[in-house]
Amino acid sequence: MGRDFAYVILGGGVAAGYAALEFAKKGVSHGQLCIISDEPVAPYERPALSKGFLLPEAPARLPGFHTCVGANEERLTPNWYTEHGIELILGTRVISADTKLKTLLTATGETITYKFLIIATGARAVKLEEIGINGSNAENVCYLRDLSDATKLVNMMRMCTGGNAIVIGGGYIGMECAASLVMNKINVSMVFPGSYCMGRLFTPRIASYYEEFYKSKGVSFIKGTSLSSLVFNSEGKVTGANLKDGRYLHADMVVVGIGARPNTNLFEGQLAFENGGIKVNNRFQSSNTSIYAVGDIASFPIKLFNDTRRVEHVDAARKTAKHAVHAIMEPKTISDFDYLPFFYSRAFSLSWQFYGDNVGEVVHFGDFSGTKFGAYWVNNGRLVGCFLEGGGDEDYVAIAKVVRLKPVVLDLGELERKGVDFVVAV
Ligand code: FAD
Repeated sequence: MGRDFAYVILGGGVAAGYAALEFAKKGVSHGQLCIISDEPVAPYERPALSKGFLLPEAPARLPGFHTCVGANEERLTPNWYTEHGIELILGTRVISADTKLKTLLTATGETITYKFLIIATGARAVKLEEIGINGSNAENVCYLRDLSDATKLVNMMRMCTGGNAIVIGGGYIGMECAASLVMNKINVSMVFPGSYCMGRLFTPRIASYYEEFYKSKGVSFIKGTSLSSLVFNSEGKVTGANLKDGRYLHADMVVVGIGARPNTNLFEGQLAFENGGIKVNNRFQSSNTSIYAVGDIASFPIKLFNDTRRVEHVDAARKTAKHAVHAIMEPKTISDFDYLPFFYSRAFSLSWQFYGDNVGEVVHFGDFSGTKFGAYWVNNGRLVGCFLEGGGDEDYVAIAKVVRLKPVVLDLGELERKGVDFVVAV
């Protein structure tokens, strides 16, 4: 059993959706393109799962957040794919790939042949068992990577109203889930080993603002320790957690956000790897010229910082996917990808954006007791990064423009005094 396609996108997440739209814009013919995804639904905006999807009232639901609404482009419902002659092969896992034969084998026993392959398999949540703790399969232990995880989390929140949740991890997922749990009237204790939340991006001062805000909403922070074991009742439900510092916490539910790993195993030994992902050039072509890699799994050159990185954020998934399709369909008109890293998050009434690189000296600015503040990063005398909470559209446009220019900064005090006006004035 087998089918042939000119173009195959492996994975049906954010990057797949944006790639499909770009293929359609470039005039792909009916029957030339397919998307293979082990998820049962057409590509959707994954960030919605930890935000609108978890709201207690008027939550976001499909088809409302199919790609590409997140970038204010067309919304690609399953019908859209049919109308454009793009085959969606859903609920189908690819279990092996042969890059020499240009074939993918699915769990249903079908062999799919491609001329060009775009790998967009994203990442998976790290499981408790990978850090030596049992309990992932318990009915009240939740992760958050895909729609089925989010649905389980919503169901658990409904069953635990007024109860206690432990959130393991102080990164993006932990912070956004903690806010959603509180909004769903659940008491939250966040446990993480670092001395402050969002340790890979925030400075201690920025983190302290968010922690105080969360505390004012009732969240408890238990820092500098981690989970030692979960405690179960006779039905296999988690009832509490032992921490490494000897504390015990009662729990009606647990949310685990301890990191993600790129889904690259199908291609190990067949393609070149870098930074734990598939190494690509500035057109997203891997070491095999018929295979492109985009989104969370791609390790790509970042010209601005003369570096290669994997970026596990939605903006990179959208832009890398579009660029790869352009490179495949119109190779003569493509320029080298020139990416400015951009991350954002929203929780409660808070909303921040970060552009560039968080290396070098930090200069905080703005009103940390109010609603608008941020930080600049200056490395080797140049402005390389900026974080801003509570900005308006024009602030963020100015930040993106100026960070890309990496201006020389002679006086750090000026950055502090002027705050976001520094970039707005450039
Ligand atoms: P994904 O969107 O993960 O898609 C990968 C797809 O491949 C999935 O459908 C998966 O099921 C499928 N797949 C994998 N292996 C196989 C296989 N063998 N066979 C078939 N199908 C397969 N980023 C931000 O910048 N801001 C945010 O606020 C933000 N919020 C987020 C909230 C959540 C809950 C999550 C999980 C992520 C969030 N992100 C955020 C990160 C962002 O969503 C990812 O960077 C983005 O989804 C990556 O896109 P992708 O297409 O590479 O991978």
